[in-house]
Amino acid sequence: MRIDILTLFPELVEGALTAGLLGKAIEKGILDVGVTNIRDFAHDRHRTVDDEPYGGGAGMVMQCAPIYEAVESLRGRNSLERVILLSPRGRRLDQPMVRALAGRPDMVLLCARYEGVDERVSSDLVTDEISIGDYVLSGGELPALVVVEAVSRMLPGVIGDWESVETDSFFSGMLGPPQYTRPPVFRGMEVPAVLREGNHAAIARWRRKEALRVTRARRPDLLVNMTEEDKKLLAELALEARTPERENEP
Ligand code: SAM
Repeated sequence: MRIDILTLFPELVEGALTAGLLGKAIEKGILDVGVTNIRDFAHDRHRTVDDEPYGGGAGMVMQCAPIYEAVESLRGRNSLERVILLSPRGRRLDQPMVRALAGRPDMVLLCARYEGVDERVSSDLVTDEISIGDYVLSGGELPALVVVEAVSRMLPGVIGDWESVETDSFFSGMLGPPQYTRPPVFRGMEVPAVLREGNHAAIARWRRKEALRVTRARRPDLLVNMTEEDKKLLAELALEARTPERENEP
């Protein structure tokens, strides 16, 4: 997969592309990420890429020409079928969107700064707008890296053990179950016995039930399209909630 990131701060993006699993994916050639400095397409010797907004008001707006030319410079390396603007006005990123993007051969991620881009960029050049949440950052670089990292996890060969992706929050439409590692007892807190007993069917059932428990408590909106087994586990959870353990009884 090829991803091109257009930015005024290449150094902000480049560092993140060398670390961890993302760095390895790029090293292995599973993912090819190009970083283009929009300022290289400025038209004056001051390398200006922004101007005052028509109609007045605070802040500056990124001009059309450098952005159009930066995108057009990618022809031959990128199909330009998806030019995605990172924007708080965009559709909120979620795991189904990440999976859909991971199925594409390439995409362009456009990072804005200042008050954003001239509206003609978003209405004509841009095919999609993606937001990473209902808050405002100073630039699209961190949101673009969020997209790159989330998409890279879906590419075959990036995560060694695919099972760990399948148990991630949101992969199966709900939050992930709790995880434990050694030691078995830490400051009096014990790892649940079922996880240490090696019964794989029992472990899978326990994980599904705990995933349902945490999802029901924190994100009940995700509990849709439940299987018959899920419904059974939810009924068990409801029963447990009605009959709390009486620890001090003889
Ligand atoms: N005036 C813009 C608005 O109210 O929508 C905000 C501009 S913001 C200061 C500068 C740039 O940061 C945005 O154009 C966008 O590229 C990026 N950005 C900020 N918050 C974002 C978010 N939640 N998701 C994606 N991109 C974001």
